[in-house]
Amino acid sequence: MFFSEIIGQAALKKRLIQSVKDGRVSHAQLFFGPEGAGALPLAIAYAQYISCTGEKNDDSCGKCPSCIKYQKLVHPDLHFLFPVNTTASKKDDPYCDDFLPEWRSFVLQQPYARLNDWYSFIELENKQGLIKEKESDAITKKLSFKSFESDYKIAIIWMAEKMHDVASNKLLKLLEEPPDRTVFLLVTENIDQLLTTIRSRCFPVKVPLIADEDMINALQARNGVDATRSAHIARLAMGNYARALELINENEDDGTTLSTFREFMLAGFKNDIQSGLKTIDTLNALTREKQKAFLEFALRLIRENAVKHFNHAELNFMNKAEEEFSIKFSNYIKGNNVAELADEFNKAAYDIERNGNSKIILLDLMLKAGNLLRQYAE
Ligand SMILES: [Zn+2]
Repeated sequence: MFFSEIIGQAALKKRLIQSVKDGRVSHAQLFFGPEGAGALPLAIAYAQYISCTGEKNDDSCGKCPSCIKYQKLVHPDLHFLFPVNTTASKKDDPYCDDFLPEWRSFVLQQPYARLNDWYSFIELENKQGLIKEKESDAITKKLSFKSFESDYKIAIIWMAEKMHDVASNKLLKLLEEPPDRTVFLLVTENIDQLLTTIRSRCFPVKVPLIADEDMINALQARNGVDATRSAHIARLAMGNYARALELINENEDDGTTLSTFREFMLAGFKNDIQSGLKTIDTLNALTREKQKAFLEFALRLIRENAVKHFNHAELNFMNKAEEEFSIKFSNYIKGNNVAELADEFNKAAYDIERNGNSKIILLDLMLKAGNLLRQYAE
């Protein structure tokens, strides 16, 4: 991966490049930043740049033996840890390494993807991924060997907060007494969930949200989206390229999520359980991740409609169909029911994530939300 493939982040790229030129590559670094900002591709581009043996002015050369292997993520001195779990095809308590072919194509195809995209890519179904204790033993062993080809061995740990506590503690030992010429690049979206002892051992590399202007350029250059629509999507995506890609598809889809949301709220409002159950059956047939995405969509629309009352158009981030829907809907979203509505939707998302019975959770939510809309309808 090249720095030129990273969207925006010019200042950060410059700093990382300079650290290599100055020979100040810290042995443990923590890349942290919000979803879709590009912490993982940045860490990989940085690793490639460290290992590149060609001319490297402001990017890796792309031609040296190291770069050639890095571009396929098959360099023998590049190691990855990432959350996994058993799947239909890997039933026997698999290691990360058992998923390496999948991991490589996933990262090369969609470097900005989310954790859940990875889970669907390897068909984890409703399970959560983990970086298990045995992974830290495996990586300790790998890093104890001399590097094969590069000056440095580099270990990239994606979603480091998914490390099991025992794995974290073993990693901590490695960070405290690092094997010779080894660089650890930890990547996280939830820095608060990492052990403070690990955080304090790492040099922090903050990855900010992608600036709107950079996002607009990327959407036009990479995704062929026209100028007006790029500006609109950039506003909605708020610095998250994964979200921007989703919005491109969402706008292209037929607005199903919005119409499902409309049916859901209307059935609740009218206390019409019969048609409500039809909507719930449709939702119930989706994967848990998609059910959660529906609830997130609902939360966003409720928030947008609450903001609408302040008459500050620059604070509203809705597409055309959502704006049309909101002309009426916003009349039911009042100062005093927003918090309660948001609470109920958040609670439902929490319960669904913990494998609760979706049908019961959604019916309960529909009735409660309807109640909250009715209460304040007058
Ligand atoms: Zn090179």
